[in-house]
Amino acid sequence: MGQYLGPVCRLCRREGVKLMLKGSRCETAKCAMERQWRNQPPGMHTWRRRKATDYGVRLREKQKVKRYYGVFERQFMLYFRKAERMKGNTGEALLSLLERRLDNVVWKLGFAPSHRAARSAIAHGHIHVNGRRLSRPSHLVGKGDQITVKASERSQKLIRQSLGDGGPPLQPWLKLDPQQLEGSVEALPTREDVQIPVEEQLIIEMCSR
Ligand code: SF4
Repeated sequence: MGQYLGPVCRLCRREGVKLMLKGSRCETAKCAMERQWRNQPPGMHTWRRRKATDYGVRLREKQKVKRYYGVFERQFMLYFRKAERMKGNTGEALLSLLERRLDNVVWKLGFAPSHRAARSAIAHGHIHVNGRRLSRPSHLVGKGDQITVKASERSQKLIRQSLGDGGPPLQPWLKLDPQQLEGSVEALPTREDVQIPVEEQLIIEMCSR
């Protein structure tokens, strides 16, 4: 499982949008995107940069989505190919597939403070899906799936701590029982459930070349 290990706020600054990669810090005034002089693209001489080309605009849109969901190019293209084979709008299908990733669901249930922490919790076996331990963050959840926490004191303490710290607002397609540490998928996510501003049509144009 590859993952980006560099400074994550730099990614938000590059994309010009809060990607919520640092957990509770993202909601505070310490967030780089909330600070003047820091909420600009990283690197020197940003003022010298020319207007983005059509290719550049499309590339940024794709990178934004990849960075938000924490997927690399190869895996992203697999999602794209899969979305192409699905019925309906390819862009919406692509975003729905990414939303259904187990690490995204664990984060949105509040079981982890960020996507990265969710991946770690899954890899360490703290999360069960339909009663079975799953260690693959890329697992796609389906309607009716039950997401629970391993019945060990350490796992329960870790997840309760994360729930206590708050998290993103609960999505309408998910249901949470914070006492039992149980979540369930009530419906498949739609385009309206995607929380970052994204023009999926630009991504489709880029990937279809
Ligand atoms: Fe850093 Fe989070 Fe703010 Fe992004 S949203 S700049 S990851 S603190």
